[in-house]
Amino acid sequence: MITIRGTVQGVGFRPFVYNLAAQLDLTGKVSNTADGVLLDVEGCELDFFIEQLCQKAPSLAKITHIEIKKLPLQGHKAFEIVGSSDSGIFTPVCADVAVCRTCLSEIMDRQNPRYMYPFTTCTHCGPRYSITRSVPFDRVNTSMRNFVMCKMCKNEYHEPADRRFHSQTNACTVCGPQVTLVYKGSHWTGLQALQKTVELLRHGAIVAVKGIGGFHLVCNASLDRKIQLLRHKKHRPRKSFAVMFPNINILKKYASVSQAEENILTSNQSPIVLLRKSTKHTLAESISPNNAFLGCMLPYSPLHALLFFNPKNSEANFDALVMTSGNLSDEPIAKDNVEAVEKLAQLADAFLLHNREIVRTVDDSVVRAFHGSHIFLRRSRGFAPEPIDLQDRGPQLIAVGGDLKNTFTLTKDSYAIVSQHIGNMEDFDTQCLFESLYRDMKTLFKIEPKAVVYDMHPGYFSSRWAMAQNGLKKLSVQHHHAHAASVMAEKGIIHPCIGVTLDGLGYGTDGTLWGGEILIATPCDFERFCHFEYTPLPGGEMAIKQPWRVAAALVMQAYGQEEAMRCLNRLGFIERFGFQKISNIMAMCHDPVFSNLSSGAGRLFEGVSSLLGLCDFNTFEGEAAFALESRAAEQEDGLYPFSIKTRQPCVIEFRQTIRAIVSELLNRISQEQIAAKFHNTVARAITDAVSLASKGRQLNEVVLSGGVFQNVYLLRKTVSTLRENGFTVYWNEKVPANDGGLSLGQAFIARARLIQEGLF
Ligand code: ZN
Ligand code: ZN
Ligand code: FE
Repeated sequence: MITIRGTVQGVGFRPFVYNLAAQLDLTGKVSNTADGVLLDVEGCELDFFIEQLCQKAPSLAKITHIEIKKLPLQGHKAFEIVGSSDSGIFTPVCADVAVCRTCLSEIMDRQNPRYMYPFTTCTHCGPRYSITRSVPFDRVNTSMRNFVMCKMCKNEYHEPADRRFHSQTNACTVCGPQVTLVYKGSHWTGLQALQKTVELLRHGAIVAVKGIGGFHLVCNASLDRKIQLLRHKKHRPRKSFAVMFPNINILKKYASVSQAEENILTSNQSPIVLLRKSTKHTLAESISPNNAFLGCMLPYSPLHALLFFNPKNSEANFDALVMTSGNLSDEPIAKDNVEAVEKLAQLADAFLLHNREIVRTVDDSVVRAFHGSHIFLRRSRGFAPEPIDLQDRGPQLIAVGGDLKNTFTLTKDSYAIVSQHIGNMEDFDTQCLFESLYRDMKTLFKIEPKAVVYDMHPGYFSSRWAMAQNGLKKLSVQHHHAHAASVMAEKGIIHPCIGVTLDGLGYGTDGTLWGGEILIATPCDFERFCHFEYTPLPGGEMAIKQPWRVAAALVMQAYGQEEAMRCLNRLGFIERFGFQKISNIMAMCHDPVFSNLSSGAGRLFEGVSSLLGLCDFNTFEGEAAFALESRAAEQEDGLYPFSIKTRQPCVIEFRQTIRAIVSELLNRISQEQIAAKFHNTVARAITDAVSLASKGRQLNEVVLSGGVFQNVYLLRKTVSTLRENGFTVYWNEKVPANDGGLSLGQAFIARARLIQEGLF
């Protein structure tokens, strides 16, 4: 008996085993169980069989455990695939998989029975997690159960040599799901629906299209006026819209693509990748105004591919389509037909619906290339719910994350399952989504949490939800410790290390707002070794939305009030905001009632961005900081002065940095150079502080996390500066460095504490 665990369901593993056994003349059976795949095999070539199992497994399969037990011979006559049984051990569910090349070529081949069929899949591709109701991954447990396979599909399903042998999502034009276009009270289905949709998009309509994990609002990417209208309707003034291109060659016309970026774009996960715009060819400016980057993706479902496919000639229908999630800003993405028509009626002119139910919402993932791989800005479709191996067994619990970019994490056995991106918990619908996804994933993975873990911030909705959970042990975790721990969890670091967490604002153990922190971290606890100097946030929340306020505060802190006024005047601040406003800000800075003090690193970047005149108002989180990064010159190695006060905890002061920036601005040094030198300075300051922390402690490992490290320029500089100084550096690769990764860190810390206290 062979038990195989890992992601081995919904990936064509049983058919692969069947064929391998047939080749080697083995008899027995293979079944999907909630323990994983169980194999009962008899024959001569068993050793070779097991070797091949591991070496030749389907590309989507991830084998984590293989267990072999000798049992008495059963005398099987043949090899068969049998039905599924159940037990309590953790079974991973495969993430959704982008359409494969073979399926793509079939839907564009006039001779093929699946020509232009938008739900074409095979054992190597198609939706998985978004359509799975329960494990094991069999058709009856998915939203494909309503579609009874026709004769052709059945034959493929039962034919061992076929690519669709035991493909649970198998379907065709005759028997499978169908699209319907709804436009001005009329309906079109099948091919006509597709043709009509293309025609509408050509003429500038905004079409709500039901995809894999939810709805997109789709619009022709060359029509600037339409996109402006969409922005207006979505209440999204400036944040970039994602764009889908028909293929990698056309994409390369509009953005520069490295080999690593091409690999991610064309991968099974097919996320949105942030790419630098090309200067030669441009799409409508309003897609990503005032931004050097563009969120790009390729068609990941046959339906998307068919929106671009022109049956009459080889030219694509569109060079690009705007594909933004089907929601109002901050609300969750719509997934059901009725819900979408209701919610998106004001936004969309037409609806391209289909009758394959989406069991749970899964947004598009967003990544940036880094170091030959990628980092996450948002982890969702294609990646969730792939488990993260925490190496040793621990208690079952839920960690609820934070309020922004919320995800939660469930743990079972040695695994952490980080949910897909949920969103902003200040929104009521998002809270409901959180609640229902929690119930759903608990059932799907058969997890009964014994403890609930939450952020120390008493005002977070997520924390309040956690505290209201009766019957569960409650543990709170400090925000920046959780960020650092998210990297420790990914890399299996269980000894003390230096945690550099740079992010917006998080609640500190002393009740103040932290955010630029260098910690000595262990899985259970931490010491605040060093932090960025506290800066007033004039107007609290207002300062977060209006970086110019922070800029004024930074200048005041660096120069004192009188001199600051003179500088701000010469930098054009008085002209931009008026004398009265600036002096009000100055006055506010002295008053703790109107100005919270914070050591946040994010605010520092945003203040500098405004100082350079790049962005005075954030219309979305991180806008000003991103503008600063986009501007930084690659070849600039210069630095500004800064200082570190070595009391405990140490304090990094950037007053001299701000003074140097102001004088360079007045000397008309370019924004590109200043932005780069500022980044280099922060990287240097971190390295110096880390060196201080390592002294006498023999700590050599550094983990980098927090939303500020989504900044690839800063991440690269920090990693290289630390390495030059002999440190081993780790950063988030499996979850986002922003608050989307917080729940993983919380779960890791809480498990360690429960184990230490002997409660597991
Ligand atoms: Zn396929
Ligand atoms: Zn069929
Ligand atoms: Fe954070």
